Amino acid sequence: MPINIAIDGPAGAGKSTLARAVAKRLGYIYVDTGALYRAAALFVLERGTDIYNSAAVSALVPMMDIELKYVGGEQRVYLCGENVSGVIRSPEVSKAASVVSAVVAVRQFLFDLQQDIAETNNVVMDGRDIGTVVLPNAQVKIFLTASPEERAQRRYRELRDKGMDIDYKVVLEEVNQRDYNDSHREVAPLKPAADSLIVDTTGLSLADSEELLYKTITDRLAEN
Ligand code: C5P
Repeated sequence: MPINIAIDGPAGAGKSTLARAVAKRLGYIYVDTGALYRAAALFVLERGTDIYNSAAVSALVPMMDIELKYVGGEQRVYLCGENVSGVIRSPEVSKAASVVSAVVAVRQFLFDLQQDIAETNNVVMDGRDIGTVVLPNAQVKIFLTASPEERAQRRYRELRDKGMDIDYKVVLEEVNQRDYNDSHREVAPLKPAADSLIVDTTGLSLADSEELLYKTITDRLAEN
């Protein structure tokens, strides 16, 4: 049976960077499920559909052709055959992903895709509902978090480094808004699974956060 490690937590907790690093050390595939929701959101935006109209968004689901590929251990997300791994990172897509991810039909569609990968591979999968909904039988469940201010600070630096001209306050507002959306939606709200281990990286460097996460996972695997 493949080993499944679920990592959930709010936006900007460093999930993708840390999960990717830990997956590499373990020799597992890293699955960034946020990229799937972002690709779905991009599809909706490209069609000019109102992201708040859930009936219209649901109607688009059968046309969504989303695929994950792994090139040299790196995940690439394809939308209708096109590599969209870069464009899905824009603030516009972030916001739209947070909105369309509340649509049941979108979640159902992506649920199957995520389960299929985990059934046949050792994975470190990160998202919002991996331990609670997608992989309830994961051998290790982590809830990775940090304070909203710290998470906004990290996101702000990341966007600045990419050359985006953006205000810290706007980023903090976006972080708070996304936390609110993600934890208050009716379907699969963001919350720690009852059996998850909480890893809080507030005040920790990236290297220290990685060590803490790696140790938490390997200790738990050794107990199983
Ligand atoms: O993690 P990332 O910021 O890329 O996720 C984008 C959005 O996709 C999140 O704000 C969240 O609303 C949604 N998401 C989700 N469930 C997941 C992963 C992401 O609802 N498993």
